[in-house]
Amino acid sequence: MKPNVINEIVKNDLCIGCGTCAGICPQKILKIQDNKYGEYIPSEIQECNSGCGLCLEVCPFSNRENETEIGTKIYGNIEGVNYLPETGYYLDSYVGYSNEFRQSSASGGMATWLLTKLLKEGIVDYIIGPTSQKNPEKLFSFEILSDENSVKMASGSVYYPVEMSEVIQRIQEVPGRYAITGLPCFIKALRLAAQKNKKLKERIVFTIGLVCGQMKSKNYTKYIAALAGNNDLSKIQNVYYRGKSPEKPASNFYFQSTDEHGSQKKIFWSEGVSEAWLNRWFTPNACNYCDDVFAEVADVTFMDAWLPEYSKDSRGTNLVLVRSPEVLTLIQEGIKKGEINDNKISVEKVIQSQAGVLELKRKHLSYRLYLAKLKGQKVPEKRENASKAIGILKKREINLKIKMQKESKQLFLECYQNHTLDIKTFRDGMHPYINHIRQLRLLGKFVLPIRLIKKISKVEGKKK
Ligand SMILES: Cc1cc2nc3c(=O)[nH]c(=O)nc-3n(C[C@H](O)[C@H](O)[C@H](O)COP(=O)(O)OP(=O)(O)OC[C@H]3O[C@@H](n4cnc5c(N)ncnc54)[C@H](O)[C@@H]3O)c2cc1C
Ligand code: SF4
Ligand code: SF4
Repeated sequence: MKPNVINEIVKNDLCIGCGTCAGICPQKILKIQDNKYGEYIPSEIQECNSGCGLCLEVCPFSNRENETEIGTKIYGNIEGVNYLPETGYYLDSYVGYSNEFRQSSASGGMATWLLTKLLKEGIVDYIIGPTSQKNPEKLFSFEILSDENSVKMASGSVYYPVEMSEVIQRIQEVPGRYAITGLPCFIKALRLAAQKNKKLKERIVFTIGLVCGQMKSKNYTKYIAALAGNNDLSKIQNVYYRGKSPEKPASNFYFQSTDEHGSQKKIFWSEGVSEAWLNRWFTPNACNYCDDVFAEVADVTFMDAWLPEYSKDSRGTNLVLVRSPEVLTLIQEGIKKGEINDNKISVEKVIQSQAGVLELKRKHLSYRLYLAKLKGQKVPEKRENASKAIGILKKREINLKIKMQKESKQLFLECYQNHTLDIKTFRDGMHPYINHIRQLRLLGKFVLPIRLIKKISKVEGKKK
């Protein structure tokens, strides 16, 4: 059998469900569908008899070019461009917010400001991004938008699977200039696809990246909706992941779901959402083998200003990493016109704001690669090398999180019947892992000082 995404990527559980393979397949034989865990994957609707391998060429998890190689081709020769291994290429970095879109957006509303600006000034004809669908089994999908109000309505972060197969087909059919928003792996896939398809290369004129630590399955949303108090998950019409509350810091945002009768349920990050997020419940396996934090091949990347001096402000603040000279000019003009309240910030601060994600996707990745190779699992080549050089307690924690990731998906299926989740049984099943992690962390608090005391005593001993 000739290698394709089904036998190389999906069979090895390395698919993130971006849909690029299905969007570019010349025979249109790949279809993106849900698997039982609420993650998107492609399947063959008829046998592939061409064996062209294009699907693999564009897959972000195949061993084609890495983000540094793609980034060098696009941005390496731009005058004044800088490079850091953590961020990839960048021209400048900013901190701030949009005066108009801040309240209705995930962070400072800078992404929505840029997208509407591109449309308003006729720089692009269409914006592509996830929009709400009022369908309990498909709450969001990538859509092509051509008016500012729809772009404004699409603001916010979507922690829900969305896939690009249909919009990629549409871009090939309908001429125009498109800007698209995406997570790092999605933008990488688009860059790989543009290398193979002239229409995509000419028509996708701006890529807008979001920093990403992990994606979540559809079942994650069902879980937090159940946690918020929804008893019948088949009736949910609409969800919002990043509600802002004036009395809470930006980091304690709320999730809200609305059912078909208009009844709303709400739950804050600190009320159980963070437990599922931070312990990687419902995270696709592909995210375990991802090393791109800052969407390194996007023209501009937006993120939260997770720095103590900004995160207390409930209204939300963005950090922005700019790679395209055109976007840089737009931001400079926006500041002059008073549309955005942005200032320059050092790239070191930008890196500091994502320290946790960097540790997860770089340092911990080395150990995850080591573990996968030890078990003979097929994993993509990464810029980090497989390594077991990490503290014993951290090793245990990483192992536990991998186990929890798998267990959460399976246990959800066992606890979900007739559109209702048995929350208690699910949480009871997950809590032994959580308790174990707590014990490890507690142990870490004692082990570190003991090691320090031993080190100091050794040095003192030598002095004598
Ligand atoms: C899965 C995920 C994980 C993230 N992880 C981090 C993180 O670890 N650290 C961090 O600082 N920031 C992270 N972000 C980014 C952060 O949540 C905000 O999106 C970012 O700060 C931009 O804020 P804003 O106010 O400018 O965006 P807004 O003005 O609200 O606009 C956001 C734009 O992005 C689009 N969009 C939202 N979700 C998606 C998606 N899944 N795929 C494609 N387009 C989308 C929206 O439709 C909208 O057009 C993550 C985002 C997502 C979706
Ligand atoms: S291109 Fe995207 S959808 Fe297709 S196999 Fe790769 S990750 Fe999965
Ligand atoms: S962590 Fe990586 S693979 Fe997972 S969704 Fe984010 S960018 Fe994609």
